[in-house]
Parts: sequence; C-alpha cells; structure tokens
Amino acid sequence: MRQRLLIIGAGFAGMYAALSAARLRDAEGVPSDELEIALVAPEPRLVIRPRLYEPNPETLTAPLDEVFKAIDVVYLQGNVETIDTSVRTAEILGADGARSTITYDRLVVATGSRLFRPDIPGLSKHGFSVDQYDQAVALDRHLHRLADRPASATRNTVVVAGGGFTGIEVATEMPERLRAILGMDAAIRVVIVERNGTVAPEMGSDPRPIIEAALRDLGIETRLGVGVAALDESGVTLSDGEHIESATVIWAAGMRAAPLTAQIPAELDRLGRLPVDRELRVHGVPGVFATGDAAKAACDDIGHDALMSCQHATRMGAFAGNNAAAELLGVSTSPYHQEAYVTCLDLGAAGAVFTRGWDCMVEMAGETAKKTKQEINTIWIYPPKANREIALASADPERVTDL
Ligand SMILES: Cc1cc2nc3c(=O)[nH]c(=O)nc-3n(C[C@H](O)[C@H](O)[C@H](O)COP(=O)(O)OP(=O)(O)OC[C@H]3O[C@@H](n4cnc5c(N)ncnc54)[C@H](O)[C@@H]3O)c2cc1C
Repeated sequence: MRQRLLIIGAGFAGMYAALSAARLRDAEGVPSDELEIALVAPEPRLVIRPRLYEPNPETLTAPLDEVFKAIDVVYLQGNVETIDTSVRTAEILGADGARSTITYDRLVVATGSRLFRPDIPGLSKHGFSVDQYDQAVALDRHLHRLADRPASATRNTVVVAGGGFTGIEVATEMPERLRAILGMDAAIRVVIVERNGTVAPEMGSDPRPIIEAALRDLGIETRLGVGVAALDESGVTLSDGEHIESATVIWAAGMRAAPLTAQIPAELDRLGRLPVDRELRVHGVPGVFATGDAAKAACDDIGHDALMSCQHATRMGAFAGNNAAAELLGVSTSPYHQEAYVTCLDLGAAGAVFTRGWDCMVEMAGETAKKTKQEINTIWIYPPKANREIALASADPERVTDL
C-alpha cells in the first residue's frame, strides 16, 4: 500500500529532511510509488537566510526543483494553512489561490522561524529587517534609494536594534555597503542599540574584545543597556530619551517559530517551538515530527538544546526525515544528537571571529576566520548538486554538520 511522508518547509531543515528520507528509502530498495515523499513550500528554492545581511540579497537563493526531481521527492507549491492531526491531513493554499487537502502517514514540520517584532510604536511601519528574503530585498532597495536624497545626517545614519549575532553582522557590513551606494566620502554613521549591557551577550566573554575592537575599527557606535522606545519617519527614540535621526532603522532582535506550529496540539515553548523527543517526534502527537527552528530538541545529554541556527536545522532535518521514513519502512530510527557547536561571526571589513564549544572559545579571528565564514556562506550551506548519488550521499544524518 502506498504511504506518504509529508514535509512542510523548504529551508535547511525541510531540505535535509527530504534528502535523508529519500536516502533511506533508496537504501532500503523501496520504490517511490510505495513510499511517496512530498514537500510543500511557497517556492522550490532554498533561501540562504544566514547571508541576508549581505548586499544583493536577490541573489541569495538556490533552486531545489532539480534536486527534488533527482531524488524522487514530489514538490507541492503552496502554504500549509491548517493541519488536522486527528485525521492526518494538511490543507494547502496553492500559489493559484486554490485550496487542496493532502493526507499523510508521517508529517515533518520544518516551517522555520520569523523575526519577532514587539509592539513598539512605529516599528511595523518604519522598521527594516534582514530576516526573510523579501525583507532583505526591501532594505537593499531602500539603501539604494538613499542615493537620490540630498546628503544629511538622517540619510547617512543606520541604527541597528539588537546587538546579538544578526545585529552585529548587519551593522558591521553597513559602512562598506553604504559607502558603495553613497560614495566613499559620505559621513556614514552606524549605531547598535542593545538592551543588555554588552554586545553579543549570548557569546560570552572570550570573543567580546575582538568584537568590540572590530566595532571601534569600523567606527560603529553602541548604545548599551537601553531599548528602542519608538520609531517615526525622523528616526528612533531610545528608552533613555535619546533621539537618533535616521532614515534606516533595522530590527534584529528576537526570533519565534513560524505560526504553523500552533496547529499541532502540543505545548509550545516560549519561542513557539514544538517539544520533541530524541527521535524528533512531537510529544504526544502520533505521526508528527518537528525539526529545525520549529522544534525544541535536546542535542546532547548534558542539558543543551538545539538553537535556532542553520547548523542545528541542517542536522536536525536529516534526523527527522530519516526517522519519519524509518517508521514507515519499519526499520530502526536514530536518536538526534549534536555535541559540537561552533559560531562564525562576520565582522565586515574587520574580518570575522570563529568560536568552538558552548562557552564560545575563540579558535580563529581576523582574515583566517573571514575565509572560513566565506566558505560557510558560499559552499557549506548550499544544497547538494542535482545528481541522485551525490544528493543522497550528502544526507547521512550522522555526517550532516559534523563539525
Ligand atoms: C540574517 C541572518 C543571519 C543568520 N546567520 C546564521 C549563522 O551565521 N549561522 C547559523 O547557524 N544560523 C544563522 N541564521 C539562522 C538560520 O538562518 C536559521 O536558523 C535557519 O534558516 C533555520 O532553518 P529552518 O529550515 O528551520 O527554517 P527556515 O530557513 O526559516 O525555512 C523555513 C521554510 O518553511 C517554509 N514555511 C514556513 N511556513 C510555511 C507554511 N505554513 N507552509 C509551507 N511552508 C512554510 C518557508 O517558506 C521556508 O521554506 C541566520 C539567520 C538570519 C536571518
């Protein structure tokens, strides 16, 4: 009898779920008309989200249709609007506006995350971001349109709200990006606003001197221990009353799981993620797996949870797809584990910093780390070639993101 594994989402987790499920199906010698692997997403492409702070964001996608064809994964274009886990169906709103219902035997929720925008006056109207493809393209167009305005402090100032990983990457890229648009002589001002008392609070103390030196070298100002109170067309007002005139305020603070997780009858965590066991099955919901930024998963036996990161999403995707397929094929599943954790933070023209371990100990800095960052961003995180053997071989869960 034909069975269907349905994957929702074509990000890093969804892509690797499809690849690893197809790999196991192939390894077990099961034809695709006995086990159908279907993936639904708005577009058949991978958005390279970790690069969206860079210039030319419209180039930062990679096609997936040929990869899916090569491994016999059925691509369905659309957005899943509702899931009924009691009868194992998902309702899809297609790109043409038509609705259809699809049944599943196993479901993998890989719907990723979105930037969380709190209810700050003016934020939704005046705030930019680099979280999703469309938002990064909108910011890039806005930056190019600044060149049509007369020079002024407002035009030349960018404020980045959030001094964490994404905020630092977007801020440190900005002086070079703005000078390329406004001219080398333009008096560029970039300010990071961070509610905590330090930049990169989540990275601990070891890389901080390198990050602070990079900000100094690039002339980037910081406002620490203050929040954003309001935005309007003139700029941003901070919680201590300071007003910074700026045509470009970029919100880069906080992530939440995409809203579809609320369709699954499980207790979501404070980030909206689905709680999963070591096999990545959602607790208490038969037939449903969750992965990537949509899942709250333990990644080792000493208390670490997977983070909302590409590094975790890729490997979790491979385990979720493998395990969902394994259940349907009647073979053993493999518990997800990911002990290694590294970060590679881009610091724009000041290089990069590479850390290893959950305490983020610096392993490389400057130009060496920058080379690694470029390799991560242009090679490691891209989909495999649309060649069946190569694509299937890339998805062994134990080898994906084995750092
Ligand atoms: C600027 C920036 C820099 C980053 N830098 C790093 C970094 O240096 N290192 C790192 O590890 N991580 C980084 N990240 C985080 C990383 O990009 C995410 O953790 C990663 O993309 C998560 O992968 P995912 O597959 O879970 O979700 P996503 O990549 O968000 O993909 C989700 C997919 O689900 C689809 N989807 C959502 N809802 C539906 C629905 N209802 N129906 C159908 N499809 C749906 C989406 O269209 C998309 O295809 C960065 C993120 C940003 C924004």
